[in-house]
Amino acid sequence: MLTHFIGGQPVAAGTTFPVHDPVTGAVAGQAHEADPEVVDRAVRAARQAARDWSSMPVGERAGWMRRLAEGIEARFDDLVAAEIADTGKSLEQTRTLDIPRGIANFRAFAEIAAQRPEDAFHLSGMLSYTVRRPLGVVAVIVPWNLPFLLMTWKLAPALVAGNTVVVKPSEHTPGSAAVFAEICAEAGLPPGVVNIIFGYGSAGQLLVEHPGVDAVTFTGSTKTGSTIMKSVADRVKPISFELGGKNAGIVFDDAGLDRAVEGTAKSVFTNGGQVCLCTERMYVQRSIFEDFCAALAVRAQEVELQPMISAEHREKVLSYYALARSEGAKMRAGGSVPLFGDHRDSGYFVEPTVVTGLSEWSRFNREEIFGPVCHVAPFDSEAEAIDLANGSEYGLAATVWTAGLDRAHRVAQRLEAGLVWVNTWYLRDLRTPFGGVKLSGIGREGGTRSLDFYSEPTTITIKLEQHDA
Ligand code: NDP
Repeated sequence: MLTHFIGGQPVAAGTTFPVHDPVTGAVAGQAHEADPEVVDRAVRAARQAARDWSSMPVGERAGWMRRLAEGIEARFDDLVAAEIADTGKSLEQTRTLDIPRGIANFRAFAEIAAQRPEDAFHLSGMLSYTVRRPLGVVAVIVPWNLPFLLMTWKLAPALVAGNTVVVKPSEHTPGSAAVFAEICAEAGLPPGVVNIIFGYGSAGQLLVEHPGVDAVTFTGSTKTGSTIMKSVADRVKPISFELGGKNAGIVFDDAGLDRAVEGTAKSVFTNGGQVCLCTERMYVQRSIFEDFCAALAVRAQEVELQPMISAEHREKVLSYYALARSEGAKMRAGGSVPLFGDHRDSGYFVEPTVVTGLSEWSRFNREEIFGPVCHVAPFDSEAEAIDLANGSEYGLAATVWTAGLDRAHRVAQRLEAGLVWVNTWYLRDLRTPFGGVKLSGIGREGGTRSLDFYSEPTTITIKLEQHDA
């Protein structure tokens, strides 16, 4: 039974809810569900810890971040097991991406914060400089697709900037957050600096609305982001939103078919397509369109399957497969549910799917599906490819596949997206800005941009009297 973590202690309060194993669909565990009293207790604990934590020198807080990274290393296998139990991810991905990124997040932000210069301007007769103050108590709301990676991505900069936090992970993935609570306790982190509460979206809603919460950082769907925005509007709380995507990929005929297909397969099927950065719309130069579709369809059939997170999400993805069929699409690969003949048949799997033949205006091509699926359409000119890629309400990420250096820069700079990859996908330097435009988010996190969000500058100006010596 997973308990909340409040004021440095496990708290077994509130009713409980089941957590399912997506590989089999069976109930794999239970967690306590935060009610208004639990949420209030967590926020109060965070407020109580805020004074000492915020006045600690940043170098000391950076030291705590390094200790948490060491704690994650020490509990690496437990975190891997918890993450796999909740999500059905592969051991390979969890060991090489999800949990190592948690370590990297704490180490990176320890360095970035400790080395960050402040602004100072010395003009004749005055000195203006800034100090940055933490926001206070930050609500951290994260989704289920990369639970540990995304939680630590927000926690590390929020904490090192001097905030205390209350985290609400997704109802589907409380496991790695529960292990992290133990890591905080084992490291001796001051009580109340990190508080973790479990529950459904309603617990998240209570948290963001709580008057003791000073700011909200949220990664999740655009719909929930919009709800949160309305909830915090009256108190004008700062928000940082990393939201959904309908990401485009463009393949030019000079890209090298094998490289483009391999990279596209990764960008479409990784994590069962359940990454906000995954590609769902491909545009391929007409001369290689048929070859590309055929090769991608082959790759789709070779993918190691990962379940969708829940029965509900699987139904959603399958409803888009059905929609594509009803609109006359050609299913180049997949399109239904795989049969294993074992315990996985009651799990939440769908087939990796490649679709062609739909209009740009179809719901399939406009709405985020968040599964292992993409639509592929041909284009004739560079200008057309850019227009097609930009023809979305979302603007999180895009990929460009070409051998042309000039073209790579030209196209990348015209794409309406927060992130553009050329001849690769998902490579990240944690110091660079991360986030989306249009319906894909508000603000940027990453490097000093995260610290900008998690703290507010105060400008101090001192008049300097001129004296003759
Ligand atoms: P949701 O928006 O459904 O949920 C995200 C989190 O918000 C969960 O913890 C959820 O709890 C909680 N929540 C739900 N309703 C509320 C509410 N009214 N107030 C406060 N919190 C609430 O997203 P998913 O979990 O389904 O995640 C998938 C989405 O996340 C996709 O759209 C994807 O694109 C996006 N995403 C964006 C990323 C980015 O960096 N831009 C990265 C990764 C994912 P519960 O789960 O318990 O309902």
